[in-house]
Amino acid sequence: MENEMEFRPTKAVIDLQAIQQNVRNLTAYLPRETAVIAVVKADGYGHGEVEVAKAAIKAGASMVAVATPDEAVRLKEGGVTSDVLVMGPSPVLFAKKAIDLGIHVTVTDAEWIRQATRVVDEFVKPLNVHVKIDTGMGRIGVRTADALQEVVQVLNSSDVVKLVGAFTHFACADEDDSLTTKRQFDKFMELVENFPERPSIVHAANSAATFLYPDYALDAVRFGISLYGIAPSAYVGSRLPFTLQRAFCLETELAYVKQVEKGNRISYGGTYETLEDEWIGTIPIGYADGLKRGLRGQEVLIAGERMPIVGTICMDQCMVKLPREMHVGEKVTLIGKQADEEITMEEWAERLGTIPYEIAVTISKRVQRVYGTTNG
Ligand SMILES: *Cc1c(COP(=O)(O)O)cnc(C)c1O
Repeated sequence: MENEMEFRPTKAVIDLQAIQQNVRNLTAYLPRETAVIAVVKADGYGHGEVEVAKAAIKAGASMVAVATPDEAVRLKEGGVTSDVLVMGPSPVLFAKKAIDLGIHVTVTDAEWIRQATRVVDEFVKPLNVHVKIDTGMGRIGVRTADALQEVVQVLNSSDVVKLVGAFTHFACADEDDSLTTKRQFDKFMELVENFPERPSIVHAANSAATFLYPDYALDAVRFGISLYGIAPSAYVGSRLPFTLQRAFCLETELAYVKQVEKGNRISYGGTYETLEDEWIGTIPIGYADGLKRGLRGQEVLIAGERMPIVGTICMDQCMVKLPREMHVGEKVTLIGKQADEEITMEEWAERLGTIPYEIAVTISKRVQRVYGTTNG
């Protein structure tokens, strides 16, 4: 992957080989008849949508999925040749573009299909659709057998819309709650019976369900967070059937180093005061890069050692308390490994009271993505 020369040393290093290894390990674990749908929404969970999609397909994924129609268009325009599914809602007006580019869309009601059929005035190629069934997530989808019957009828009478898939989404698969997930699965199987013919791709499992409920793998799994080597939750993380390879590393360099006498204040608000003569390093990364202000106190790695961010995190820079004098240009790892130490997205997530998914998508566009190996 070509990267334009950038001068700021702050970058995210993405290991596409780790992603490919996760796909291969997943394929070996899944039943032979189950395909892998690589979920690359939100710019591939911050890893780069086009790069991840291509790498995942090369490693054996049969299809990729995104959340929005615009994400799907970007993948196609970026040269992704596999099938692409938009899992979220699409406006009716997207139907034409979806046909042109061969994008699969999600339908959730009969009226959408009626309107789309009208929008697509002449038949060139079919509009491939997956019917979303809401079995307990409460987000989008057909909720009853009656509503599904109506969808089936409209599908039968439309000459442009082609039924390809049916899917549902689990709300609690990452928790210790197999009963809720079983209820959702059973309801899904029952509703799928309403199709006169079983759609060719019936799918339900996200990463968590893929790991915990192999019996629910069906025709395909929609593998998102764990494609990137991250467990969906600590609960699932302690029950993984194979080791995940992390693919994301956030690094920068020491930009400025100074010794500060005891009793001096650091950064906005002067809320950090040196308790002794201290070495303070400045790194060129701040909250505009996704290093949220709430991460004050979080440690970073330099020379294989942990040291804390001190004072308020600024928009573009922040300060680190160094254990001794260190040199400008020294590598600083904010997420990733150095020697025997590792800082994970989970560690940031815990500090911020959120989940690693949110960390992955919070590292902003200003941080250049570089494709290479993240080991060391
Ligand atoms: C995001 C998403 C997934 C992937 O979930 P992970 O927990 O990241 O594996 C699957 N299906 C739908 C509908 C989604 O929105």
